[in-house]
Amino acid sequence: MDKIYDLLILGSGPAGLAAGIYAERARLDAMVIEKEYVSGGQVVNTYEVDNYPGLPGINGFDMGMKFREHADGLGVNFVTDKVERVEAPGKEDLTGECGSTVRSGGDAAEQPVYRVVCENETYAARTLIIATGAVHRKLGVPGEEEMAGMGVSYCATCDGAFFRNKDVAVVGGGDVAIEDAIFLARACRRVYVIHRRDELRGAKSLQEKLLRLPNVEMLWNTVVEKIEGDGQVSGLTVRNVKTGEISALPLQGVFVAVGIVPNSGIFEGLVEMDHGYIVADETGRTSAPGIFAAGDVRTKALRQIVTAVSDGANAVASVEKYLAG
Ligand SMILES: Cc1cc2nc3c(=O)[nH]c(=O)nc-3n(C[C@H](O)[C@H](O)[C@H](O)COP(=O)(O)OP(=O)(O)OC[C@H]3O[C@@H](n4cnc5c(N)ncnc54)[C@H](O)[C@@H]3O)c2cc1C
Repeated sequence: MDKIYDLLILGSGPAGLAAGIYAERARLDAMVIEKEYVSGGQVVNTYEVDNYPGLPGINGFDMGMKFREHADGLGVNFVTDKVERVEAPGKEDLTGECGSTVRSGGDAAEQPVYRVVCENETYAARTLIIATGAVHRKLGVPGEEEMAGMGVSYCATCDGAFFRNKDVAVVGGGDVAIEDAIFLARACRRVYVIHRRDELRGAKSLQEKLLRLPNVEMLWNTVVEKIEGDGQVSGLTVRNVKTGEISALPLQGVFVAVGIVPNSGIFEGLVEMDHGYIVADETGRTSAPGIFAAGDVRTKALRQIVTAVSDGANAVASVEKYLAG
């Protein structure tokens, strides 16, 4: 490891790819590190994306490919490797040696160099953009994996419009589940909220709003045993955990809202976190100098492709300012 990059971008979902494009256009000496052989992140597993401006109804995999082709076309530098940890600088790293690429105006002596230790190689850079995204927690029941995108969804904002005038269920009892159910109740015929406890966890004001809706039905003390269907969701088998009673619930869609897990565990102790999310505002700035966060991995209100790509762009603007001292 003798090269010090201006910028290493960790992850190539929408946030990392947008950051790569902006970094290339800013002529930064940057590289994107992605653990998978394909770029696009969560998007590649999305059956259809219908809320990204200019690309209505695009298949998620195609969208991921388009983003990556755009980056490749501009000459963005990629490596396939899995980031295992980031080492914060010791005193010996606080220099501009080792062929520093710090830009004019930057103060090399002040800017720490981070080592990004990956499965195959270790890389060094003066700035990092963490864009490692998140994963949606699964129910882990039969039928879920097979019918993901075919009636099983993890994102009401993304997929709700496909279920207009249909019967759906939301599984979960926190703020996200309640918000999803309220959102879906505007367009769906009936919304069942399936919760394993006898009270919701979400904010009281939201709960009141939900419980007032005429087309929402609460199924308390209930868990999903199986998602039914043959290639397309046709119903649920649910069990009441108090009585043990099993029943069938015919419907066309199930929205799983049992939590999101940010891919941030490897950065613990490096940057400040809130419930696993890296604390950063729109600028991407974190608690550590030279480290920025973009996309689903950071604290934010709306986790979507359009907000992830704008995070990537904003983070690069912050990197440029930082490198310029
Ligand atoms: C099923 C589903 C449907 C969705 N539908 C829509 C939709 O219709 N519209 C919409 O706007 N949004 C949708 N979303 C949300 C959207 O996909 C996310 O908000 C967006 O992908 C976030 O982008 P990101 O770049 O922050 O993270 P991600 O997309 O999660 O990308 C993170 C990348 O980092 C890589 N990575 C993680 N850890 C490491 C590591 N240690 N080393 C190297 N690389 C690493 C991952 O492999 C991945 O490529 C959907 C999400 C899901 C799950």
